[in-house]
Amino acid sequence: MGSIAINSLRCVGCKICLNVCSFFHEKEFNPSLACLAIYMEPFTGEVEGEVLGSCDLCGGKPQCVRWCPMGAIKYLKR
Ligand code: SF4
Ligand code: SF4
Repeated sequence: MGSIAINSLRCVGCKICLNVCSFFHEKEFNPSLACLAIYMEPFTGEVEGEVLGSCDLCGGKPQCVRWCPMGAIKYLKR
């Protein structure tokens, strides 16, 4: 097992990870179906990421880690 960690200092809020996650699991580009969430403060642009309990680590090959263009998501193996 392991866990996913989102580095809010690197994340630019593009939400590619959300679309990748939902497509991988639901065959649909729909951020609301993703197993993680990205919140952006509209005035400051500050970003916060949250991994939801539904995350199954993609069976050990996390797609969000693979496709994040900023390298903001890390897979921490245990
Ligand atoms: S893909 Fe990476 S940079 Fe884009 S929202 Fe997700 S964590 Fe942030
Ligand atoms: S590891 Fe897989 S299931 Fe978990 S948030 Fe990333 S893409 Fe979604």
